[in-house]
Amino acid sequence: MNNWLNFIQLIFYPYTCFSCNAAGHNRLDLCGACLGDFIENKNSCDSCDAPLPKNINGTCGKCLKNPPHFDKAVGLYAYQGLPRFLIQSLKFNAKYSCARTIGLLIAARMKNQALMPSALIAVPLHPIRHRERGFNQSEKIAHYLQRELNIPLLHNACKRTINTTSQTHLKAHERKKNLNKAFSFTLDKPLDFVAVIDDVVTTGSTANEIAKTLKKAGVKRVEIWAFARA
Ligand SMILES: [Zn+2]
Ligand SMILES: [Zn+2]
Repeated sequence: MNNWLNFIQLIFYPYTCFSCNAAGHNRLDLCGACLGDFIENKNSCDSCDAPLPKNINGTCGKCLKNPPHFDKAVGLYAYQGLPRFLIQSLKFNAKYSCARTIGLLIAARMKNQALMPSALIAVPLHPIRHRERGFNQSEKIAHYLQRELNIPLLHNACKRTINTTSQTHLKAHERKKNLNKAFSFTLDKPLDFVAVIDDVVTTGSTANEIAKTLKKAGVKRVEIWAFARA
C-alpha cells in the first residue's frame, strides 16, 4: 500500500533539486551536482566534531578541558551554503520536504556503523516554542531516520522542561548556565545506546546537556547525529 502511494506521488511530484530544479539524486530533493557543493565537516574534533583549524587534528581544547558527556558527535556538513539553506527552509518556512532530504543524508552516513543505537530521540523544543513554531524540526528529521534505519524514535521520553531563551546571542558560559537541568528523560525500560538527532549543533552545549541527562537516566552510550556543525 505504502509503495503504491509512493509510486503515485512520484508520478505527480518527482524528486527535484530544491536548489536548481534538476532531477533529484538517489530519492533526494537534491541533484548530484548541488550535493557535490556541500562542504563536509571533515577536519574536526574527534570528540565534539567542532571544526578545527587547518593542519590541526585530534581533540579540541574545550573537550580536553571538559570532556563531553556524549560518546561521539557527528555533524555532516559545515553550516553554510546549501546545508544551511536546507535547515533554514525547514525551520523558518516549514518546508517539510527538506526534513526528508536531511534525514536521508544522515541515514546514508550513519547506517554502516558497527554499533547501531537501539533508539533515537530528537532534541526537544520547550512546549511554548513548539506551539509557536507548530513543529519540531529535529523530530521531522528523526522521523525519516526512523524509517530509513528501522530504529524506533521515542517521541515523549525526552522533554525540555525549562524554556531557555534563544541561545544565539549568548556567550558559551552563559549558554551552559542557561541549559543546566533544562531536560528530563523518562523511560519504561533501560536502553543501552541512544542517538540524539539535531538539525545543527552550534556550541555543543545543548547536545552535552541532553547527553548528561540521558546518562544519568542509565543510558550507557549517547551519540549526537546532526546534519550540520557550526
Ligand atoms: Zn541541483
Ligand atoms: Zn571538541
